[in-house]
Amino acid sequence: MNRTERRHFEKEMSKILKKSAGVCGVCGTELNHNSQTFGGILEPYGTVLTGECCVNKLEVIMGAGVYINKNINGIMSVMKTGQGISHASPSDALSAIRQIRSGIGEIDSAADDLMREAGIERPPTDITVTDAPWKLDDAEWFNRHPGRSYRMRSLHPDEIPTLQDAVTDVVIPPNHCWEILVRQVNKGQRIRTAFCRNMAVFIPDADDVIHAIFDIVVKGEGQGVISAKDVAALVDSYNR
Ligand SMILES: [Zn+2]
Repeated sequence: MNRTERRHFEKEMSKILKKSAGVCGVCGTELNHNSQTFGGILEPYGTVLTGECCVNKLEVIMGAGVYINKNINGIMSVMKTGQGISHASPSDALSAIRQIRSGIGEIDSAADDLMREAGIERPPTDITVTDAPWKLDDAEWFNRHPGRSYRMRSLHPDEIPTLQDAVTDVVIPPNHCWEILVRQVNKGQRIRTAFCRNMAVFIPDADDVIHAIFDIVVKGEGQGVISAKDVAALVDSYNR
């Protein structure tokens, strides 16, 4: 393959990656999270992105990658700290991909373990593995408050990109603001959830009160209004 053909391939592949529907470009099978992908040439399609299902059909393999569809921010933040190697051989590339996939598997299972330990049934929507100002702030806060497992605090500006679109796109009513509820499951392992707070309502900064609000929000029961009565009933049940 000459330089022009390679350039053409790179251009086509970048288009495919941009509009990727998460399926193998040859057979249409859905790609699994953390599975290996291959870029190459196959007539009559031209440039294609395939999964392992169709790699053997490719006439030329030009590149390999890993498909991810969950925990994306956490995984990408770790990837960015990796060093690129130029002029690597195909076997270097394959061993790098093996390492990437095992790293992704570790992030996924650490997140799943943490959610299970916290008794939360839905998968995490975002994982932050690298340092962030709000993480440092939470870590210090829990250090200063050894008796606490739950914290309610303001949303940090740097934290907005880590929230789901469902949170950031919504227009909140007047006198409301986004606050973050944090649960420290283990030292250094915390779960956050965003919570739309009515500023007119006083919320006492007590662990069991924040615990109750956290549980209601995490279970998705906070879609409407969280009543003081519901919170009080839960607090009661924790203390029983
Ligand atoms: Zn396929």
